[in-house]
Amino acid sequence: MVQDIPKSVDIEYDALPARDDESVLSYDGRSVLVRIDGNRAVLPKVCELSGECRMVFAFRADGKRFFLCLDKADAKGFGYEALSRIRQVKADTQQYAIVTGFHYHCFHEENRFCRRCGAQLEHCPQKRCMVCRRCAAEIYPTIAPAIILGIIDEENDSILLTRYADREYKKYALVAGFVEMGESAEMAAKREAMEETGLEIEDIEFFATQPWGFAQDLLIGYFAKVKGSREIKRDTQELSEALWVKREDVPAKPGEISLTSEMMWAFKSSQR
Ligand SMILES: [Zn+2]
Repeated sequence: MVQDIPKSVDIEYDALPARDDESVLSYDGRSVLVRIDGNRAVLPKVCELSGECRMVFAFRADGKRFFLCLDKADAKGFGYEALSRIRQVKADTQQYAIVTGFHYHCFHEENRFCRRCGAQLEHCPQKRCMVCRRCAAEIYPTIAPAIILGIIDEENDSILLTRYADREYKKYALVAGFVEMGESAEMAAKREAMEETGLEIEDIEFFATQPWGFAQDLLIGYFAKVKGSREIKRDTQELSEALWVKREDVPAKPGEISLTSEMMWAFKSSQR
C-alpha cells in the first residue's frame, strides 16, 4: 500500500527553508509537475524551477525533505501530468510524496480565508497549519475517515465488487463511504453495505488502514460476511455495477498502492 513504499516517513514539521537539491511538489488542479522517466515520476528540484515560488515544508520520506509550492511552478523538461497517470508509475518514494502532497495542496487551496471571521489566512511559519491574524484561529489539515468493505459470501466463495458511477477511477472497487457524525467505523460499514447494495452484514473484521491523499481520507478496511439474502439492490446513483465475483475471478494482483486492491488481493490469494 502507498504508506509501505517509503522505508521511513517523518511528518514532524521542519521550518528550515528549502535547499536547492530538495524536491518540489507543485499541483495544478488534479495534475502534478513531474518528468516521466521510463516508468518513474521524477519531481523537480528547487534549483530546477524557473521563477520565484512560495514554498512550505510538507514532510520527510526516506530521509528526504519534500516542499509544497504554493504557486503554479515551471521547470524546464517537466510538465503537469494527471494524478490518474501517477497511479500507474513505479511505486517509489516520489510516488508516495505525490499522493500525500496532494492532500497538503488541497488543504491550502481550500483554506485561503478564515472559516470563523473571513479574514485572509497565512501559513504558520512554525507548524503545519494556517493562521488567522485577525481572530487567531489555527486551521489544520482535515483528514476524513472512510471505510472500505469487502463483503464475503462464504457459501459461494465470492466477494462483492462494485464500480463507481461518476468517478475517474473506473476499475472494480469495494463498497466504500465516509464515516458520518456520531457513527463508529463499524456502524458506517453496516450502513454503507445496506445503502449501496441492500445487503446486511455480520462478523465485521478489521483488515488495515491507509492514508489516501488523493481524497484527503484515512481509509479503514474491513471484511464482513453477508447475512441473510445475497440479492443485491444496487444504489444506482452511486454505483454503475455491483456483483458477486468468485474468488479465482477477482481482478487483483499483489503490490498495488491502494487498500482496495490490497483487500481484493487478500481475498483472491485466500488470506481471507
Ligand atoms: Zn479569523
